[in-house]
Order: sequence, then C-alpha cells, then structure tokens
Amino acid sequence: MAFELTVLGSSSAIPTTSRFPTAQVLNVHERFFLLDCGEGTQIQLRRFSINMSRISHIFISHLHGDHVFGLFGLLSSYNLMGRKADMHIYAHRDFEPTLEHFRKHFGMDMSFDIVFHPFTAVKQMEIYSDKHLTVEIIPLRHSVPVVGFLFREKKMMLNMRREAIEKYALGIKEIRNIKTGLDYITPDGHVIPNAELTLPPYKTRSYAFCTDTLCFSKLNTVLRDVDLLYFEATFSAKDKKLAKLTGHSTSEQAAMLAKQANAGRLLIGHFSTRYKSIAPLLKEARAVFPNTEAVADGDKFSIDPERIESGS
Ligand SMILES: [Zn+2]
Ligand SMILES: [Zn+2]
Repeated sequence: MAFELTVLGSSSAIPTTSRFPTAQVLNVHERFFLLDCGEGTQIQLRRFSINMSRISHIFISHLHGDHVFGLFGLLSSYNLMGRKADMHIYAHRDFEPTLEHFRKHFGMDMSFDIVFHPFTAVKQMEIYSDKHLTVEIIPLRHSVPVVGFLFREKKMMLNMRREAIEKYALGIKEIRNIKTGLDYITPDGHVIPNAELTLPPYKTRSYAFCTDTLCFSKLNTVLRDVDLLYFEATFSAKDKKLAKLTGHSTSEQAAMLAKQANAGRLLIGHFSTRYKSIAPLLKEARAVFPNTEAVADGDKFSIDPERIESGS
C-alpha cells in the first residue's frame, strides 16, 4: 500500500556537496520507479538505503546531462552485480543512439536486457500500466523536448467485512465478485448491497514529476487535483526573466500553478546554485501556496492510504 517518494537529487545542472542533480524514486506498492538519473544517482540510492535491485523502470524526462549522466554508471553497476531482470528505460526517442553506443562499447556482455521504450514529447499519453498504477507523459516546455510523468494509482479491490463473510457463509467465488463492487444475492433472492459487505474503498493517489520547464496555463488542467506535485523552481521570482530565457520556472510560478491546479501538496527543487540559501524561494512559494516544501536530498514524502467514508 506504499506510495512514497524519495528525493535523491535536488540541485539543478551543477551538483554541490549537499545537493546532487535530479533523481527520485517513487515506491508504489513496493514497486520502485526511478525518475531521472543525474550523475551520482547510484551513490544516492546507497546513501538513502534504497534496494537497487527493486528498480526495474527508469523514466527520463529529457536529454540534459543533469537528468541522465548517472544512468550509465548505474547500468554498469547492475551488470557487475550480476543483475538478471530486464531494465525498462523510458526516454525520448533521440536517446536511442546514445543507449546503443553504450551497449556496443561498454555493455557487450551485460548480464541483463535493457528494454528501451521511446516516446516523443508531443502529446499526453499513457506509457506504462500495471495492476496498481498508470504512468502518463505530459509534454512540457524547455530548450529540448521534455515531459513530466504523472503517476496515478488504480482503484484497489474492495476489502471484505469479516463479519459479512461469516453471516452469509460466502465462498471464494462470491467474495471475488463482491470485491469488484457487485452486490450479493442470497440463495433465497435477497439483494445485499455491496456497502454492507465491504469496507469503504481507498482514495486513489497521484504524483506528478515536472522538470525542467516553463510554467504555462494548460498545466492547470493537466495537473488538476494531483495529490503531490513536484515542480522545478530553479529561480527566485526576482530572476523571472532569466527563468524565461533558460526555459525554467520560479518558485512563485510553481506555487501559482499548484494553487490553480488545486494540488494537495507542492514540492519544489532543481535549485540554481546561484542561491546560497533557498529559504527566500520557499518563502515566495508559501506566500502563494502554503503547503509547499523545498526538497533536500534524502527527503521522503508519503501519502497514506485513506478510505472514502460514505457521504464524503
Ligand atoms: Zn535540469
Ligand atoms: Zn534541462
């Protein structure tokens, strides 16, 4: 039931001693998804005690070094560790020649297969689905093609009320049907409503990862009601012009977006190394959207499962 984000890197293009370039891990029901893979990602995975072997899907937002240079070291380490499971890599189609070059020159005898899933950053679409979640790409705006990733948890099967199983002497087949939301019809024809037989369902949870990008109004609808939103805030509001010029956002713009999209919580990161302290950036964002956190390497953010009580 986990839905937990770990920040591995929160700096922008240049790493510092306290902030590595962009990488995050999202744990959804004990499946681990790596988002971007800046230089040193494998070091951060170890530092923050993430079991590397649990990662089988890597999503790359765009082909700038601070989001991808850690990938080759990570893949090499997996090889040295004798990994057997396939590694799925999702990235813009332009990444294929680079990946091929790596495979040809450095990965002759790789112990595992790399499965490349190319995309174009043209339209919003689903690129991954399993029994717990879907992942969509969201086209963003930067100096090169870039996408955000929107993780949406799927509705879970309903949990039975223990007393209902005993009361109606329900068998496996009946329980399976009831868990999908069906009512139960007793042998003498009485209809027992599903709500009497099951616990209230869980709310589905969502996470959006958006970096690097300008802020633009269409995102208000694309990101509507997202529970947790990571949005880059490379610059302070006073450097708005520079943000526009370089295809980035300010902390204030990120907060405006979170407010307009009715996000549950905002995380800002990808901070420019020009700022000695990011406190002013956080202050600017909180003035617009109070539920904002400025992320640091190693931070974890969880969304606890919550049942939808009747009437809400
Ligand atoms: Zn970047
Ligand atoms: Zn970039």
